[in-house]
Amino acid sequence: LALPADNNRWQLYQPALEERLHALNRYRQALRHATDNDELFLVYQPKVDLSCGRITGAEALLRWVNPELGFISPADFIPIAEASGDILRLGDWVIDAAIGQLELWRDQRLVAPDFRVAVNVATLQLMQPGFAEALIHRLRRSRLPRGALEIEVTESGLMQDVELALSQLRLLAAEGIDIAIDDFGTGYSSLAYLKSLPVSVLKIDRAFVNDLDTDAQGHQLAKTVVHLARNLGCTTVAEGVERAEHITLLKEMGCLMVQGYWYSPPLRPEAFIDYYLRHQAGLAD
Ligand code: C2E
Ligand code: MG
Ligand code: MG
Ligand code: MG
Repeated sequence: LALPADNNRWQLYQPALEERLHALNRYRQALRHATDNDELFLVYQPKVDLSCGRITGAEALLRWVNPELGFISPADFIPIAEASGDILRLGDWVIDAAIGQLELWRDQRLVAPDFRVAVNVATLQLMQPGFAEALIHRLRRSRLPRGALEIEVTESGLMQDVELALSQLRLLAAEGIDIAIDDFGTGYSSLAYLKSLPVSVLKIDRAFVNDLDTDAQGHQLAKTVVHLARNLGCTTVAEGVERAEHITLLKEMGCLMVQGYWYSPPLRPEAFIDYYLRHQAGLAD
């Protein structure tokens, strides 16, 4: 009979499952207090314009270090926060922190006047009626000029409720907020809708970029995204640029904005400014 064997297997798997649920619960609890306890911070990764070599902006990426759990990757905790709804609070925190940081850098004249910061916006945030109005209100209260803040959204976020996404994105675009589709090519998106969305940037996912110089299919995919973007009147940003060959190939295809470890990993604000000033000074020589 199969029953004992199945029972045995169940007994083997059950503790692992329980452990995982327990861990998930601990993360969820800890995350709830992360904003109050100063456990969150933003790191910034430079975005480089290959046509002039300048750093024209940065992507803000969230970091969480908990005293007990240690460093937890956003790839792990963002999905948990999306499932629990905590991402709404975290997302507000990210927007406030990024705006505050850019105000500070501009006040101290550390960055160029046209330097821009991009923040990632989760699907659940975008699907919140009033999200666009709240962001616009926050920006108008800030000392930032039009165009200083960009947002990155995912294809799944846009496609979940196209009408709602469209109405929010229209308001944001009218306010001068550039909208990028992150990880483009990894999710599902309808070309018909894409055309009607006020999107100005497609970010080529780093999985394709990584394969650029080693795999003909990766090369073809990246090229297709660049051409598609051009037809849609968008620009492209390649993420995950790690090797000089990536840059050569991307330039050839007409993708002029890049970010990746080849230049710099995401850095704490002080280290970012250090890198930024050295990089821009190096161009002048
Ligand atoms: P993403 O928005 O696509 O960000 C790019 C990720 O690629 C970042 O990972 C970045 O550190 C990493 N990366 C950059 N250059 C390279 C490279 O050359 N090689 C490799 N291997 N990786 C590179 P990170 O910071 O771990 O973030 C992972 C994801 O978590 C992000 O992907 C984004 O989807 C999400 N995330 C991060 N911060 C936030 C946030 O504030 N809000 C939301 N909603 N999501 C966030
Ligand atoms: Mg992003
Ligand atoms: Mg991305
Ligand atoms: Mg990505």
